[in-house]
Amino acid sequence: MSTGFLNIDLTALAHNWQALDAMTSVETAAVVKADAYGLGVDKVARALARAGAKTFFVAVAEEGVKLRQALGPNPAICVFSGHMRGDTDMIGDMGLTPMINTVGQLTRHLESLPGHPFGIQLDTGMNRLGMEIDDWASVAEIALGQNCQLVMSHLACADEPDHPMNRQQLDQFHLMTDGIDVPRSLAQTGGILLGPEYHFDLTRPGVGLYGGLPFADAQPVAHLDLPVIQLRDVAPGETVGYGNTWTAERPTKLVTVAAGYADGVHRILSNNLQLWHGAHPVPIVGRVSMDLITVDVTDLDEVPGSLSLLSANQTVDHIADRAGTIGYEVLTSLGARYQRRYSGG
Ligand SMILES: *Cc1c(COP(=O)(O)O)cnc(C)c1O
Repeated sequence: MSTGFLNIDLTALAHNWQALDAMTSVETAAVVKADAYGLGVDKVARALARAGAKTFFVAVAEEGVKLRQALGPNPAICVFSGHMRGDTDMIGDMGLTPMINTVGQLTRHLESLPGHPFGIQLDTGMNRLGMEIDDWASVAEIALGQNCQLVMSHLACADEPDHPMNRQQLDQFHLMTDGIDVPRSLAQTGGILLGPEYHFDLTRPGVGLYGGLPFADAQPVAHLDLPVIQLRDVAPGETVGYGNTWTAERPTKLVTVAAGYADGVHRILSNNLQLWHGAHPVPIVGRVSMDLITVDVTDLDEVPGSLSLLSANQTVDHIADRAGTIGYEVLTSLGARYQRRYSGG
């Protein structure tokens, strides 16, 4: 077997959910869109349900169907994209709760599934999803008179605590929702960390559950080990990989490991990241290719059977820094070829 092993620590996942839950006095939901940020929604969502989560969020109805099959009938499953044309059977049959984004979606929902629960998503300045203040004013009375379970909005800059946008969106959310008697939700992971004013009745953490910033105290959840396929000795002056981008300057022991950009190891990490053998870092040398990486292990005392890419030594955010992206993208790029193994929970 030469695929990488992605070990997902369900105990750390549950711990992160509980730690975020303990920061507020309100309900803590769980965002498990995009296959639980790449970690495998079935196992992850069941572990979160055991930890205490009762409300889950996904991006699209199709994800909600899969999640309902994993979780059974009880948890609430909310769909950020709302009620799209073609979603009605999935929403009705699987008991999904669409977060309605437009007047058109509200009409579709009330006409096609009268009495079926829904939520409302409001735009408070991000200009991505949700009704703006005028549309909301025109339908609020109708919506709130039906089976509306939640009114929510989303913060654009919650990972920057001092950003003035946070206060601006909080004020706008109050303006649009004060006085209603339906539960309200504003905070993702970053919003939880902004403090109690942002918590309302329900929080919606995603990335913090999976060990990513801005939840700096999170325990790492994803551990990735890549098997060594081949060992070779390279003499000074020899080059390695596509484009000859690395040249040996000393007698070098090189290993080739099984992962590449098709597995989410972004090509920008060529000559630009370390893998780890226990506590010892070893550099990637040469280009990352589609399925393979070459690593200089000259300084190790032994030839490793595998090297780790993600561990307590090197988190998704370390890799994101090197790749010029965010932990979210590192997680959701984790390859479909890796064997996912689950521990704890
Ligand atoms: C993805 C998402 C979340 C979770 O955000 P994190 O930053 O991962 O905690 C919450 N709410 C909405 C609307 C989202 O799209």
